[in-house]
Amino acid sequence: MRVLIGGGTGFIGKHIARKLADKGHEVTLLSRSTGRGRLTWDELYKKGLPDNTGAVVNVAGENALNMFRRGEAYKKDIITSRVDTTKALAEAITASKNPPKVFVSTSAIGYYPPSSVADYTEDTKVTGIDFPSKLCQDWEEAAVLPEGKGVRRVTIRLGVVLGKDGGAIKQMWWQFYFGAGGKIGTGRQFFPWIHIDDASGLFVYSIENDHVSGILNAVAPQICTNEEFTKAFAGAMRRPAFMPFPAFAANLIFQDRATMLLDGQKVIPKRTLELGYKFKYSHLDDACKEIVS
Ligand code: NDP
Repeated sequence: MRVLIGGGTGFIGKHIARKLADKGHEVTLLSRSTGRGRLTWDELYKKGLPDNTGAVVNVAGENALNMFRRGEAYKKDIITSRVDTTKALAEAITASKNPPKVFVSTSAIGYYPPSSVADYTEDTKVTGIDFPSKLCQDWEEAAVLPEGKGVRRVTIRLGVVLGKDGGAIKQMWWQFYFGAGGKIGTGRQFFPWIHIDDASGLFVYSIENDHVSGILNAVAPQICTNEEFTKAFAGAMRRPAFMPFPAFAANLIFQDRATMLLDGQKVIPKRTLELGYKFKYSHLDDACKEIVS
């Protein structure tokens, strides 16, 4: 099957593309820049979906935790890189005479409001209360297709994706390597995580299985706190982790995005498990050991 992946050049996109190629699918990456096996967003706007596209995925998005960017222009980039790219793909699918079988779009566990007591499953309905949750709602709405198009839709709400070559681990690797890692804020906030092998695996599972549709929480079944993650990761690295990142510093650097680090949500992958996805990494210690190995 031909699969078009928006943001396929990024951390998660590359893993999805590799898995699909290994299974014999033909992958086209949708990117802002030209290259072999790539389509640009401008080409998509002009010409629509490539012929015989069987599945469309979108994992495009500006890094929301860039330490060196802030202000309204950056916030706009965070929003448009997710919402507008998803909308562009939904419009291309709608306009297609030969639409794909499935459209897998992305969202994040920031959809759920921070809480130390609530259990959140895919059935939980919320209205946006902060920047991340409003962003996630707009992101999810952008993927809606007109009735009767006959395209299966899946929305994957990603937790913190753990892998050596990107995301949070890449940002904190050297800090922990030099023994300068530590919990963030109180460390008591929930830290819903998923190993990159499962995050990419869930996209592929959603593409290949016709019974999968709707929202899927992409988080491992074993929930932990930020402090527990800090201990597990530093332990796997055989390093101490006594240098906390204080809340005031997070607020100063990340402003209203600091909630993504300082507050957490207890997210449960209820539908993901009910729909038959088998996690390779259900336990944090195993995931951290694999990443460090
Ligand atoms: P990366 O930063 O590694 O890759 C994202 C890709 O998006 C890039 O390769 C880039 O492709 C494209 N992109 C970046 N900025 C823009 C922009 N302004 N406009 C259009 N495209 C852009 O991110 P990840 O792979 O880690 O994450 C993928 C998605 O998953 C993101 O939307 C992210 O928010 C979401 N997510 C990730 C989590 C994680 O832990 N990694 C957790 C929760 C959600 P190119 O340069 O080729 O155009």
